[in-house]
Amino acid sequence: MKFVYDFTEGNKDLKDLLGGKGANLAEMTNLGLPVPPGFTITTEACKVYLDSGEEPVALRDEVSAHLVALEEKMGKKLGQADNPLLVSVRSGAKFSMPGMMDTVLNIGLSDKSVQGLAQQAGDERFAWDSYRRLIQMFGKTVLGVEGDLFEDALDAAKAAKKVTVDTELEAADLKKLVTKFKKIVKTEAGRDFPQDPREQMDLAIKAVFDSWNGDRAKLYRRQERIPHDLGTAVNVCSMVFGNLGPDSGTGVAFTRDPASGHQGVYGDYLQNAQGEDVVAGIRNTVPLAELEQIDKKSYDQLMQIMETLENHYKDLCDIEFTIERGQLWMLQTRVGKRTAGAAFRIATQLVDQGLIDEAEALQRVTGAQLAQLMFPKFDEEAKVEQVGRGIAASPGAAVGKAVFDSYTAVKWSRSGEKVILVRRETNPDDLDGMIAAEGILTSRGGKTSHAAVVARGMGKTCVCGAEELEVDTKRRRMTVPGGHVVEEGDLISIDGSSGKVYLGEVPVVPSPVVEYFEGRMHAGANDADELVEAVHRIMAFADRKRSLRVRANADNAEDALRARRFGAQGIGLCRTEHMFLGDRRELVERLILADTEAEREESLKELLPLQKQDFVELFSAMDGLPVTIRLLDPPLHEFLPDITELSVRVALAESRQEPHENELRLLQAVHRLHEQNPMLGLRGVRLGLVIPGLFTMQVRAIAEAAAERRNAKADPRAEIMIPLVGTVQELEIVREEADQVVAEVEAATGTQLKLAIGTMIELPRAALTAGQIAEAAEFFSFGTNDLTQTVWGFSRDDVEASFFTAYLEKGIFGVSPFETIDKDGVGSLVKLAAEAGRATRPDLKLGVCGEHGGDPESVHFFHEVGLDYVSCSPFRIPVARLEAGRAAS
Ligand code: PEP
Ligand code: MG
Repeated sequence: MKFVYDFTEGNKDLKDLLGGKGANLAEMTNLGLPVPPGFTITTEACKVYLDSGEEPVALRDEVSAHLVALEEKMGKKLGQADNPLLVSVRSGAKFSMPGMMDTVLNIGLSDKSVQGLAQQAGDERFAWDSYRRLIQMFGKTVLGVEGDLFEDALDAAKAAKKVTVDTELEAADLKKLVTKFKKIVKTEAGRDFPQDPREQMDLAIKAVFDSWNGDRAKLYRRQERIPHDLGTAVNVCSMVFGNLGPDSGTGVAFTRDPASGHQGVYGDYLQNAQGEDVVAGIRNTVPLAELEQIDKKSYDQLMQIMETLENHYKDLCDIEFTIERGQLWMLQTRVGKRTAGAAFRIATQLVDQGLIDEAEALQRVTGAQLAQLMFPKFDEEAKVEQVGRGIAASPGAAVGKAVFDSYTAVKWSRSGEKVILVRRETNPDDLDGMIAAEGILTSRGGKTSHAAVVARGMGKTCVCGAEELEVDTKRRRMTVPGGHVVEEGDLISIDGSSGKVYLGEVPVVPSPVVEYFEGRMHAGANDADELVEAVHRIMAFADRKRSLRVRANADNAEDALRARRFGAQGIGLCRTEHMFLGDRRELVERLILADTEAEREESLKELLPLQKQDFVELFSAMDGLPVTIRLLDPPLHEFLPDITELSVRVALAESRQEPHENELRLLQAVHRLHEQNPMLGLRGVRLGLVIPGLFTMQVRAIAEAAAERRNAKADPRAEIMIPLVGTVQELEIVREEADQVVAEVEAATGTQLKLAIGTMIELPRAALTAGQIAEAAEFFSFGTNDLTQTVWGFSRDDVEASFFTAYLEKGIFGVSPFETIDKDGVGSLVKLAAEAGRATRPDLKLGVCGEHGGDPESVHFFHEVGLDYVSCSPFRIPVARLEAGRAAS
């Protein structure tokens, strides 16, 4: 196996092997763009190291061979005393993990070669500054020295000289600082800073491998659902310097605005600085457009390269570049992260430019992004007290209590508080707090600062670089212009789309995308309209592509109408027990507890007209589209009085010698029906089979409602669904009774109803005997909530709050199986049942109505299994439509 690739050997499709950065450096090299020469150590080498604790044997020799080649190309040797080659050692995994892993610059500098660098560059100050940066970075990331120790020493050096910025330190000061830094290393790491350049390089490579398993990196991967076994590649790249004076600098650029998608010049530039200074947001940058005045030649070249890259990658790219004394170098490019809104706009813009087709456009957006666009925004009419404005770094409207450190953010959010994490700038140590917070506010840093990049990746609201705010994290407060002080715990609101910061709680209004789905807004000319237009077009692409139909879980006309506006093609699950809540609950309680047939019939008679009216309303809302009505399926306890409460009532009445016959009778009945495991007890079809007349009453209500609508020249399309079936015999009995009732109603009303009768598949036994069950069912709807509960043996009501966090932390699963379908377990039963069912009945209609029906990843799975439809809550319908389209393209 080959472990090292020269930049000239790779290409952009080798991300698995070379990581994103390495693959793209190779791609740019081969496009003829100015990339400093270098090579990439593969993720395979990292995996061997992580698995065995040792680097692969062949690696050392391969690195040596590539280093020699690099030295020949550059005409100098690594760390050579009079004319040193310096390299950077950078991590680069398949998926970008901004700031999560390690990087060391200026490798090759030593007490000797620092002199050589000074001569070569004609700049002593620069050489010593580079050397102190190396010791600092190497000390921190490779040798594990506390970073603050270096920072404090740097601050002390500045204070001693009475200057504020590090560029004001001179060569002599930096020389002293180097001595100080080396002492810190010696004391803290128990060893000298290595003077052998090759040793520096080898240790740095190892440190990058190790950083894959750093806490920050692991947490980030869990959040972003990046597999833990990918490993990182390591890029060894010859150094170019942006800190060689005013004709040098470094910057970050986007080929379009990552917030809006508009084409133009977007990015930040920092004169006389190294790359890390920009990303860390340490000094304030200037807008990229100003580079045109500073260095027109480099600016023009950069614009041309950006165009080349966009046409080549057919997508928005982000770029890191450095200018060394007027010579432009490309340090990195990748398909850039973007906001949800920009993703939709860019996808349609690229279609219009003829760069991509509709199917590809669908791959450029996700259901999760669409869901984000459906978040509410701040009410523009609201009276607000704006106290600052920063950079709109990641959209959304967030309201919460101000907290000034990550620990408090986590603690408060665990106890149910909504918090906004306020920092001067964030660094990777703030990750926990950023995850816990509703939004992030910083007073320093630009669009490419750590806070901005990470928040965008998480889809979290972020305003950064709000410079008028004086953030004092030590005293846990910030002072806003005019002197008002926001203390920890005070409510603030931040708008990640405008960058505005407000005191107090600003009310929020619905998103334009939701307004569009609701039919209250149409595509037009302003900014929100542009977004709506893009969403409209992408939804049309998805609808044209998809083979899965999308239905709604809805049990009242209002939800049904909304679902229809959102594009639902019917109702996949009407839970009739929801129709019996509120004041009808008592009727059901009476029915369940009835001792005599007369009592039972009495309550059924009362329920029938109410049910019928419910269905009439539902059928009119969904006229012309299928409406699947599930017969009653409550775990019994949901309709019975609480046993403890009732016992107390009886005991009290007894002690007061008050009459309590009714309570006592109720209590006895509740005792009789009490279950230890109600979810596995008398519910679903079982209830229908032991309470005579219950299901037939419901079937009659459905049939009569359908007949009434039909006679009113409407087009009701009812489907009757039997829940919690485990064996075909249960279904056969219910079916026979139902068929009879339907026939009676047809005869009485003179209609032909053609009601389909089917079942839910939500028990393992049902899935395993699906071939038999299909004999008696015209359709299956997979109840993946119960199926997950019963396949795993996880109580769906309890586990998420009890041990799922521990399971997620231990990596037993990356996401709750109640949220995303467990393909291997529950999913394989779905597949098996679908196949067996269709083998019995080729025209068997197959759907899913568990929560998974609106989950993006699960939708793709249901598409692959060949279901006919997914059914989900009304608000998730657009997401399901989009994902179904993506799955099919
Ligand atoms: C299911 O079990 O997946 C289902 C849709 O039914 P309910 O959630 O009502 O039990
Ligand atoms: Mg169920």
